[in-house]
This record gives sequence, C-alpha cells and structure tokens, in this order.
Amino acid sequence: MKVYIETYGCWLSKGESNISRTIIEENGGSLVDSIFEADVVVIHTCAVRGDTERKMISRIRELADICKAGNKKLVITGCLVNVRPATISRIAPIASLVEPGYLDEIWKVIMSPEKKIIVRKYEWRRCRFPAYKKGICYIAPIQSGCLGNCAFCIEPIARGRLHSYPPDIIIEEIFKAVRKGAKEIYLTGQDVICYGLDRNTTLPELIEKILRKVEGEYFIRIGMLEPSLTANFIDELIDVMKDERIYKYLHLPLQAGSDKILKLMNRKYSVEEYICLVEKIRKNIPAITIATDIIVGFPGETEDDFKRTVAVLKKVKPDKTHIARYTIRPFTAAANMKQVPESVKKRRSKILSEIAARIAYERNLRHLGKIEKVLINSIGHDSCFMGRTFNYKPVIIPVKPRLEIGYIGFFKIQSVTPIYLKAL
Ligand code: SF4
Repeated sequence: MKVYIETYGCWLSKGESNISRTIIEENGGSLVDSIFEADVVVIHTCAVRGDTERKMISRIRELADICKAGNKKLVITGCLVNVRPATISRIAPIASLVEPGYLDEIWKVIMSPEKKIIVRKYEWRRCRFPAYKKGICYIAPIQSGCLGNCAFCIEPIARGRLHSYPPDIIIEEIFKAVRKGAKEIYLTGQDVICYGLDRNTTLPELIEKILRKVEGEYFIRIGMLEPSLTANFIDELIDVMKDERIYKYLHLPLQAGSDKILKLMNRKYSVEEYICLVEKIRKNIPAITIATDIIVGFPGETEDDFKRTVAVLKKVKPDKTHIARYTIRPFTAAANMKQVPESVKKRRSKILSEIAARIAYERNLRHLGKIEKVLINSIGHDSCFMGRTFNYKPVIIPVKPRLEIGYIGFFKIQSVTPIYLKAL
C-alpha cells in the first residue's frame, strides 16, 4: 500500500504526522513523495486561524478531486476534523475522517474498504509515539490538549482536554533517536507546561529524567508554555534548564498587554505577572531567548488597550514576537463578541510588527562579534547552512568543506538582522 502524507500546522502536527508514518511503515505500507504514485492520501490538517481553515478546505477539495479521479482513498486527520466534520464530509464525500485522539487507528482506516468517520469522541486511544527515522531533529509530541479555555482558541474543540504520554515511552524513544543520530529533540504539544498533570508528574520532572537517562551531545527545545502554569513550576524549570543540553529558549505567549483584554480572553495571568515571570527567568538565565505571541484586534480592544500592548512589548523586549490579527473561530466565546474592524487590526499589526522587529534587532546585536557554539541543523537559502546557538538563535553559516548537518562548532557572529545572526 503506497501512502502519500501531507502535513500542515505546528510542530505537534508534524510530530503526529510522524506517528502516522511510523504506523504505516510498521504495517508494511510504504510512503511516497508524489500524490500520483499513491494508493492512499493522508492529510494532517490545522485549524488555528480563519485563513488557515479556508486554505485547508480548499486543499481538501483539490485532494478529493484528485483521489476521486485516480480511485485513491482519502484520509483526513489533524485539528480541522473535529472542528468542521460536516463541511469536510460535504466537500469530500469520499473521505474518511480520524480525530487526533484516534490516530492509532489510522492503518485500520487506510485498509478499510469502507469510509470511516471517527470524530468528536475526544477519547484518548493513542499509545503510539513516533519512531525516529532520519535527520538530526526528532519531534516528540509529549502531550495534546490543554487545561485552559481561552476565548479565542479552537483547540479545545479540535482536541479536547489534556492527554500526556507516559514518561517511559517518551524517554525510550528519545534514547533511541539520540543513539541513531538525532541532535535536536523538540518536546512539543499544545501547551507543554501542562505535561503530566493528568499523570501526577510535571514537565520539569520529565526533562530531568530525559537528561539523566539519555546521554550524548544533543539539544532539547521546549515547546510553547502557557504563562500562569509556567509560573507555578518556574523554579524547577529554571533548575533543569541549567543543563547545557537544553536550548536557552522559552516561548511564552503574552497575547495582550491590557489586563482588560487578557480577562476577556480568559487568560489566567495579569500583565504584571507576565512581566515578573520574564524578569525572573532572565535574572536566572541571562542569555535566554524569549519568544512571544500577540493577538491584535481581539474583540473589545480599544486604542488605549492597544497602547498598553505596545508599552508592554517595549518593556519586556522579547527576542521574537509572533503577531497575529484576531480571526473568528467557530464555537469560541470571542466569536460572539463585538468585532474590531479589519482596517484597525491591520494598522495596529503594522505598528507592532515594526516595533517587534526593532526590538529583535537590538536583542540580536548582543551576539555581534561574539564566538558562539552552534549546531548546524539544515540547509538554508542560497545554499548556506543554517544552525542554532545555545539559545536557539538562527545562524546563517557559509558552506565550507569540513562543515555538514549535525556539526557542532564555534563560529564568530559577523553581522545580525532582526531575524538571523550571520557567522563567518
Ligand atoms: S495544534 Fe493549533 S497550530 Fe497545531 S495543527 Fe492544531 S490548530 Fe494548527
């Protein structure tokens, strides 16, 4: 059985796509790079924003036409499945649907002569974890779901509540991956700081065990963390992050710099608490790279709220800021609130992007002229190597004979941009 997999969305979605690959290959299926060679097409979807959803729907429509014409089976999984099952079934009547919690069933669905629909059960039927295949990056999707209920977020509908993998499975697979050549381990999930709270353990405990049981030269990248829960575990997290095998990088979404908007969003922290959290982390790990997310134009955001967000951004000075204009997601509380006009969102987003770029440039300047330890992890544009410093800053490195992907060495930073460091 030849299977073509197409994957959209975040690192969690990529990790889940690797679960599909693992299950398919273990059952004797083979993966192909071209849709036209395949007997079966699997798509891992994303539903994070309104524009993403429209892109997904249009791609599913195209895939349905290709599959119908070529007599191929179409299997749709990932976040959109639980959000829009009726729409998907209407535009792709031949498709089978598998919600993320039932991914272990994917081979049965692929092999079934009938169309299968497994949606909105929100049960956790998964024990499969992706096997390492090749390359230096191993994605470990340690949990799915979260403990929050943010007014803008579709993910409780997409995935339901928190489900964490048992630590033993995670550690065993990371151990095998490192032994076979992985040098970067991405601990990923919807909100990795809630890892283990359904299993009487925690993220810092998991990381501590990985570091103790998996020897070797590798770097762990910790995925996105919700700030209020992070504050509960910050001492333990700082402790494990002192190990040089952890990238000094944390992704803490601020979302808004106004307490009024944070409350409307149903976020569980205040602006002051967020600032204190970042200050504490920077005090203990001065070289930390802080990434954040901001939603511009959330319903109810006035000019004054926006100015507060600008002020907080200038105060916190994140190394990297993802700015997203708010889009309505179905079944969420914010969908029914009074919306901010698109033109206002556009203007505010432009202002924030310019400020964020200036801050990112200033933060990157701190590396200028320094010699940094870098892991080369990919090929970038213009055939240069791309790497990461110990604090996960991307570095462009010119190609030289002794260099290759997986090489770890020291490089002098010759120039910087808001996005990259450039090495000699
Ligand atoms: S978890 Fe969020 S970003 Fe990741 S695939 Fe699902 S909707 Fe997209």
